[in-house]
Amino acid sequence: MTDLTKLSLTAAREGLAQGEFTSVELTGAYLDAMEQARALNAYVLETPEKPLAMAAESDKRMAAVEGGLLEGLPLGIKDMFCTEGVPTTACSNILKTFVPQYESTVTANLWKAGGVMLGKLNNDEFAMGSSNETSAFGPVISPWRRDGDTTPLVPGGSSGGSSAAVAAYLCAGATGTDTGGSIRQPAAFTGIVGIKPTYGRCSRWGIVAFASSLDQAGPFARTVNDTALLLGAMAGYDPKDSTCVNRPVPDYVQAVGASIKGKKIGIPREYRVDGMADEIDALWKSGAKWLEEAGAEIVDVSLPHTKYALPAYYIVAPAEASSNLARYDGVRYGVRVPGRDVVEMYENTRAAGFGPEVRRRIMIGTYVLSAGYYDAYYVRAQKVRSLIKGDFDAVFSHGVDAILTPTTPSPAFGIGEKMKADPVEMYLNDIFTVTVNMAGLPGISVPAGLSADGLPLGLQLIGRPFEEETLFSLAEVVEEAAGRVSVEDLWWRK
Ligand code: GLN
Repeated sequence: MTDLTKLSLTAAREGLAQGEFTSVELTGAYLDAMEQARALNAYVLETPEKPLAMAAESDKRMAAVEGGLLEGLPLGIKDMFCTEGVPTTACSNILKTFVPQYESTVTANLWKAGGVMLGKLNNDEFAMGSSNETSAFGPVISPWRRDGDTTPLVPGGSSGGSSAAVAAYLCAGATGTDTGGSIRQPAAFTGIVGIKPTYGRCSRWGIVAFASSLDQAGPFARTVNDTALLLGAMAGYDPKDSTCVNRPVPDYVQAVGASIKGKKIGIPREYRVDGMADEIDALWKSGAKWLEEAGAEIVDVSLPHTKYALPAYYIVAPAEASSNLARYDGVRYGVRVPGRDVVEMYENTRAAGFGPEVRRRIMIGTYVLSAGYYDAYYVRAQKVRSLIKGDFDAVFSHGVDAILTPTTPSPAFGIGEKMKADPVEMYLNDIFTVTVNMAGLPGISVPAGLSADGLPLGLQLIGRPFEEETLFSLAEVVEEAAGRVSVEDLWWRK
């Protein structure tokens, strides 16, 4: 039998439906692969009995011809999603003992569709980071390496466990969350597809909150078609999240392969940043050419407030984080470190529970929200946010259907390379992705080629609100033209 872990979700679904193999067999193949890949540190919790039990149930439903959209397909879950009875830590010491009594809406939707949970995936602590190096469980190592070089590389972040696991065939698809790029950037670094849907498309209920006005859940998979399939199952109205929008979920899979003739694609001139590598620029031009050859019209557009996006994001996100993280006080959740009185208990608990990046964000957030600085920083950043959204609205009101940009300014970097330096260096990685969260828009990253030293590079397509279908159609064209990139050398198994 061929290696079952190499199948796309769509092919695996077909194989299951045809009775070529069972979900128990498929799940078993992934569990074996996970066991051989501990060196990557992609999973923070493996729950082997659970997936095998879920797969057995799934096989029964399949036999009774009651299979759902994702029936029997093994998935990995970012450790930001609460999973009932299964520890959920946000990869923070402060939540190491937390076992949720409830299931997040997104994961509940996946299980309702027949998905099988393989385990919980590593991420940056509370999803704060761009490299998965801030996790309390240690960094994730990318399955990718530069040509002829064994330097360990980052898989991107914050959803680095998800991206590494999908790229290394340790799950067929995975969930992620994206507050400033945490789905798109790791997808780009590992040569897979990731989509952050429109704010409000997926429920945030049961997802550990980072910055509530920016957080969105979305899928990772190895093909555009697979991400479309997953998003269809994850999305939908949920009265438990007041920002979740009540509109029907389209058939995203249908959009894959739809004609893009006449679609107007904007190329924003402000994204041509100083010092951008030539190969990124070349990739961007190829992307535009592929879309044009498929019948799209390419136009230059301007998003004049782009240069303020990163500074404004790094005020809004920490502000919301400092407020969201106030709940970890040693009283109601997870870890408690006693003190002489309640204040000292709070201090001891939070000092022991939070890592340096999270502490930095809490301090910045508390500062920008404090009485004397609220107007100067927080209110200003919110105004900038409106201007950024206004830039996109203006472009879309001129008939532009989507915007094409690189996903990241560079390919993946080495573990430790940017952690030692000034934290701003790490923040600069989000330059092309944060604008999309600030404006609440959907964005997809699709692999578009390899760098000179053999690492994946991604292109980002940004769409109008709730027009994820357009993104899937366009991304499919890029995927077809660029050809799939995949890890050939499974070095971690040796
Ligand atoms: N890298 C960004 C940050 O550190 C975005 C993280 C995310 O999207 N969760 O805030």
